[in-house]
Amino acid sequence: MASPTENGNKEIEEISVMKMQLNNGQSMPVIGLGTWRSLPASVYQAVKDAIDLGYRHIDCAHSYGNETEIGLAIKDKIDEGVLKREDLFVTSKLWCTYHRPDMVRVGCEQSLRRLKLNYLDCYLIHWPTAFEESKDLYPMDEKQKVIFADYNFVSTWSAMEELVDQGLCRTIGVSNFNKRQIEEILKTALIPPAVLQVECHPYLNQKRLIGFAKENDMVVVCYSPLGSSHTPYEKPGKYKLLENPTIVEMAKKYKCNPAQILLRYQIDRGNVVIPRSITKSHMKDNLDVGDFKLTKEDLLEIDQLDINGRIMDFKVAAGHPHHPFENDEF
Ligand code: NDP
Repeated sequence: MASPTENGNKEIEEISVMKMQLNNGQSMPVIGLGTWRSLPASVYQAVKDAIDLGYRHIDCAHSYGNETEIGLAIKDKIDEGVLKREDLFVTSKLWCTYHRPDMVRVGCEQSLRRLKLNYLDCYLIHWPTAFEESKDLYPMDEKQKVIFADYNFVSTWSAMEELVDQGLCRTIGVSNFNKRQIEEILKTALIPPAVLQVECHPYLNQKRLIGFAKENDMVVVCYSPLGSSHTPYEKPGKYKLLENPTIVEMAKKYKCNPAQILLRYQIDRGNVVIPRSITKSHMKDNLDVGDFKLTKEDLLEIDQLDINGRIMDFKVAAGHPHHPFENDEF
């Protein structure tokens, strides 16, 4: 693979502007920067570095606790003249304590205020599970169990639709919903979800869910595409994803690094990726995947690594009637 220094960052520019068309006519850059567990102290610099490198898609959420610093980085880059607001695609997510329909606008406006924006490019229901309204992300009872609320995500979705009508966000979608739950929404939606954000990597390749999403005109955004090595959760598989021998061998064959194989795998399946990084060299590598494609045989070989290996099992909401992963559904 040609190095960016040899060609004046041409490939990086090309991949950073590569976009996926959404069902509402908007488009989403295929590589975005993930920001979960990027500490407020480091995320400001990380987002500024990312924008300088060419990232034009930032994945945020109320629950990540760092939207204020991300907003400041975006503002500073806009003020410096590096980019305009309309060049950037910013996603945020409605947290579980905001599912009551009249709280949806409140949640969105809070994210907008922190991000210093007057609209979001995309707003997602983070999880289908409603929790009791609270200033805490996880309201707990005396037994230290999360207190659930019984709002149905279908009514939450109607309130999401109003945000589009009111100009607070351009695109709406869901995250961590299973097929049945998406079907529920589609039955009554006036605005069908345009985006499905789910965990997706070779250990959990989500083939059936992606097929379903595509049939319904939704773009799939893969979270934890590198195996989420920074999280303390138990990781599936004998090897860390970035150290899996199949991936490492393929990286040698394509003269790139394992992270680039994992990202290219998703892009070649027609998906969007949001690798998280606060390390500038990693961010640069993660954008530099534009000048090669995996062969059909190599895609199939990576498909074989699937072990239904979910990292994000959301145990904290175990027993919730709308828990997406508890009934052997996909
Ligand atoms: P990723 O799979 O993106 O892995 C991130 C880890 O990989 C970090 O430790 C990072 O370290 C490291 N890394 C990044 N690039 C490279 C590289 N080129 N080579 C080696 N290591 C690398 O994990 P996430 O779970 O964070 O998923 C990505 C994003 O998806 C999140 O940040 C968030 O925005 C979103 N997400 C959404 C969820 C949802 O419920 N909707 C749930 C989980 C994630 P370093 O910082 O040093 O580069």
